[in-house]
Amino acid sequence: MKVPYRDFDRLVSFFSKVPGIGSRGALRVVLYLAQMDPSKIRNLAKALLNVVDGAERCALCNNLSFSRLCWVCSDEERDRSLIMVVETVMDLLVMEETGYRGLYHVVAGLVPSIRKIPDREKSKSLSMLLRRLDGVREVILAFPYTVRGESLAKFFHQALLEKDVLVSRIARGIPTGAEVEYMDASSLSYALSRRERL
Ligand SMILES: [Zn+2]
Repeated sequence: MKVPYRDFDRLVSFFSKVPGIGSRGALRVVLYLAQMDPSKIRNLAKALLNVVDGAERCALCNNLSFSRLCWVCSDEERDRSLIMVVETVMDLLVMEETGYRGLYHVVAGLVPSIRKIPDREKSKSLSMLLRRLDGVREVILAFPYTVRGESLAKFFHQALLEKDVLVSRIARGIPTGAEVEYMDASSLSYALSRRERL
């Protein structure tokens, strides 16, 4: 499926690299944009440039920010004794939907596909976290139960062991609404071993 027009093709190829879109999705996006009112497209381009030019990382937690401190760190209502360590900004945004009201520490980049974090980045991120443990009672490691997630959890846990702070990790188990018969054995067995008394 191809439209023989170079700029159109460049746009499709650009959008197809966005995680979760794919080549057919990219084609849909570009076809949609191509039929939009030109003034709306100009406003969209302006907004995109503003976001790109204004985006930086929060000096405290490494979240996406448009000023020195991000919207979470500058929120006075947050529980400052809790820090949740997440891999990416996308993970932070998903965690926000749970109603969590503590602070965060973001380990890696903005895009979920850039999941391979170089050791140098990891160490830099760790020292950034260790510098802000004053008054913190708990650090929650919110890494997935994958090979990469396990290795990150181990890395942060080991470094935090000597610190006077409680370290916890988000639980794994049966997702809400999932049927037991469709669960994989590893998640089920973990859920069973961590069962709660009623
Ligand atoms: Zn922040």
